[in-house]
Amino acid sequence: MRTIYTTNDACTDKNLLGNKGANLVTMARLSLPVPPKFVLSIDAYRAYKRSGRLPLEEIRKAIEELEQRTGKRLGRGLAVSVRSSAPASMPGMMDTVLDVRELEELLASVRKVFDSWDNARAIEYRRLNRIPADTGTAVIVQAMVFGDADGRSGTGVMFTRNPSTGANELFGEYLHSAKGEDLVSGRVTPRPLCCLQIEMPEAYYQLKEIGRTLETHFRDIQDVEFTIESGCLYVLQTRSGKRSGQAAIKIAVDMATEGLISREEALLRITAEDVRSLLHRRIESPQEYAHIAQGLGAAPGAVTGSVVFHPNEAVAAKERNESVILVRVETSPDDILGISAAIGVLTSRGGLTSHAAIVTRAMGKACVCGAEEVRIDLEAERFEAGGQIIRRGDSITIDGNSGRIYAGRLPLVEAEGSPELNTLLAWSDNVRKLKVKANADTPEAIAVAAKFGAEGVGLCRTERHFNAPERLSAIRAFILARTGAQRAQALETLGKLQKEDFVAIFKQLRGMPIIIRLLDLPLHEFLPADLENLDPGLAEHIRELRETNPMLGHRGVRLAVTSPEIYEMQLEAISEARSEVEADVSVMVPQVITLQELFWVKRLVKDKNLKVGVMMETVRACMRAGWLAKHADFFSFGTNDLTQAVYSFSREDVEKKFLTTYLEAGILTHNPFMVLDVKGVGRLMQTAIFWARKEVENLDIGVCGEHGGDPESIKFFERIGVSSVSCSPFRIPIARLAAAQAAIEHKRAATEEVKPPAPATN
Ligand code: ADP
Ligand code: MG
Ligand code: MG
Repeated sequence: MRTIYTTNDACTDKNLLGNKGANLVTMARLSLPVPPKFVLSIDAYRAYKRSGRLPLEEIRKAIEELEQRTGKRLGRGLAVSVRSSAPASMPGMMDTVLDVRELEELLASVRKVFDSWDNARAIEYRRLNRIPADTGTAVIVQAMVFGDADGRSGTGVMFTRNPSTGANELFGEYLHSAKGEDLVSGRVTPRPLCCLQIEMPEAYYQLKEIGRTLETHFRDIQDVEFTIESGCLYVLQTRSGKRSGQAAIKIAVDMATEGLISREEALLRITAEDVRSLLHRRIESPQEYAHIAQGLGAAPGAVTGSVVFHPNEAVAAKERNESVILVRVETSPDDILGISAAIGVLTSRGGLTSHAAIVTRAMGKACVCGAEEVRIDLEAERFEAGGQIIRRGDSITIDGNSGRIYAGRLPLVEAEGSPELNTLLAWSDNVRKLKVKANADTPEAIAVAAKFGAEGVGLCRTERHFNAPERLSAIRAFILARTGAQRAQALETLGKLQKEDFVAIFKQLRGMPIIIRLLDLPLHEFLPADLENLDPGLAEHIRELRETNPMLGHRGVRLAVTSPEIYEMQLEAISEARSEVEADVSVMVPQVITLQELFWVKRLVKDKNLKVGVMMETVRACMRAGWLAKHADFFSFGTNDLTQAVYSFSREDVEKKFLTTYLEAGILTHNPFMVLDVKGVGRLMQTAIFWARKEVENLDIGVCGEHGGDPESIKFFERIGVSSVSCSPFRIPIARLAAAQAAIEHKRAATEEVKPPAPATN
C-alpha cells in the first residue's frame, strides 16, 4: 500500500492527503514557493491505528529525497515541521511539532500528531461542526523556514479579499522578524499587511500575485499563511477563507461579475445565515455616544448585553435566555461553547486573524478584538476602560463594524442590506419559480414587506385588529349582546372600524395582491378572564361561552356557520374599503373541513367579486383536496395548525413540557413547528396537492405557516409543486434566496445523469 506522497505524485485527493496537504501539493504544482515536503496519507494513519506501526522504510526514503531537494542533512541545516492535515479543516485543533532535527524524534512527532486526532478539543470541535469523527488525519513533514532568521524576515496571514467586508483588496497581518506561532496564537497584536508593502515591497507584490493565482485556481477567497526567510517568500498553507455574511455575499457577487464563477454558483454559495447577518442591527445614532474604548471591528453587527468573563457563564446565561457579551483577554479553541452561547465577543488582545475574530465571523456573532485599552481583571471579574469600571453583569454595547465599545445599552436599529445583497436577490428573482409573499397584518408590516421584495400579502390576519381597546369593547358588546338591536349596533361599530383598517391597508399595497383571512379566533378569547368583579349574570354568560379545548373548538368557519353576521360584516367592510381604494383582494376561510363550509361562506360573499380560498389546516381538508379544489379559487396551507393536527400536539404545551426531552433522546430530530416534518405533514401536503392538481392543474397553492420562511422547508415546497410561500417580512430576503436555490437544485437533480448502481460491497 502507498502511504507517502510527494509533489511528484500529482495526487491532490483530500481524502488521502487531508485539506492542508492536498492544497500544499496543489500550490507546489502551480509553481508557488512551498517549502519541500512529503505527506503520510490517511491510509498511513489507519495502518498506524490498526497496528501501532509507521511505514519506517518509506519514511527513511522520503527523508533522503527531502535532503537531496534541500541539499541539507536532517539535523545539519535541515529541520522539519510535522503537521496535521484532516479532510475538513480544523484550525488549531491538532498538534504541530516544529523544528524537528532527528529521525527518532521525527517518528515520535508523527505519532503525536496522529494521536492528536483524538484529543478532547478536536473531538469537541468535530461534534460542534458536524465533521465526521472517523476519517483520521494525514501528516505533513515539511522543511522548516524561519521567519525570525534576520531583519529581512517575518511572517503573516493574508486573505485574498477582505473577510469582513468582502472588498477586493489584500487584507492581512504581518509580524516583522517573528515566527508563525506568534501570530496565529494572538499573543502579539500584529501590524496590517500594508506595512509589508513599505518594508519589503518585493515580497508584498509577490504575495499579491500568489493571491491572484490561488483565487483563479480555487475560485474562492483564500486564507494564506506565509513566512519570509532572509527576503525569500514561502507559502505554508492556503484554505478557503472564513468570512462574514456581508463578505460572503459581496465576494460571491463580485466573483460572478468577474467571471470566476457562474451566477448559479454564486447563489448556491450563500446561506440563510449570511443573509441574516446583513440584516444585522447597528447602533441607531453612534455619534451621540462617547465610546469607552476602541478595538478592531472583527465581525459585523452591533449587540448589547451584559458582561460575562467566563465561557461557562455565557453557557449558563444562554440557558436563562439572557443576552451576554463574552469578554476575554484572548480566546482559544477551548472557549468555543461559550462563544456560541454569547451574542458577541470582546477581546483585549489579538488581531483580525486571531481565533476570536475568525470564529465569530463564521458564527455570525458580533466581535471586537484587540481592544488594548480594555484592561481586564479576570479574577475580580471586571474591566477598566475610558476611566470606567465595568463589572460582571453590567451592560455594554459593542459595534463589530467600527470596533467601538460603549457602556450601557444603546438603542439599535435593523440593518438595511447592501448593494450586493440586492444584486443577489435580483438574480434570485430571475431563477426562482416560487412566489414569495408576506404575512402582514398592518400597513407598517406591509411597507417593510414591500421594501424586502414581497410580491403580495399571503396572509393578513384580522384578529389583531380587534385587540385595541375601543375595538375590544365593541367585539365584547357584540358577543354579549342580549337583544337583536344591541347586536346590530355592535356590528355596525365593528364594521366601521374594520373598513378603516382595510382602507389603510389597501393604500399601502400599491398594486400588490392581498389575501385576507376571515376571523379565526374563538370568541371567548376576546372576553375577560377574571370574572370576580362582573355582574353575576354576565359572569355566568361568559362561563357558558368557555370551552374545554378552544383551539379545537368553536373557531374559524365554524363561527361563521353559527353567527354569519361576523363574516358578513367583514366582507362588507372589505367591499366598502375597495370601493374607496382599488385593490386585488382575496379572502381565505380558516379551519375548513368540508366543501359544505366553503359553499356556506361563498353564499355570504354573494356577488362581491372576491376570490375565496381555503386555508388548508385540517387533516380532513387535505383528504378532500380534490373536491375543495374544484370550488376554491386557491389553497393556502397553514402549516402550524396542520402540524398540530397531524401530531395531535398542542404547540405551546408541547414546547413547554416535553419537546426538549424528545429532541435530546433523539425521538424527534427537529421541532416540527420550526422545520417542516417532511415525512408526515409533508406527505399529507403532497397527497393533497396531488388530488387538487388532478382536478385543477394550475390551482394557486400557497404556504402561509411559519415554515414558509424556513430555507429547508422551502426546498421541499418547491419539489412538491407549491406555487407561493408567505412568511414574516424580515424573512423575505432569505425566502427569495432559498426559493432560487431550490429551483437550481431541482433543475440540477432533474438533468443529472442516471448513474449505474454502485457495485455491491460487503
Ligand atoms: P494548524 O492546522 O493548527 O494551523 P499548521 O500545520 O498550520 O497547524 O502549523 C501551525 C503553525 O506552525 C503554522 O501556522 C506555522 O506558523 C508553523 N509552521 C508549520 N510548518 C512550518 C514550516 N515548514 N516552517 C515554518 N513554520 C511552520
Ligand atoms: Mg495553519
Ligand atoms: Mg390556523
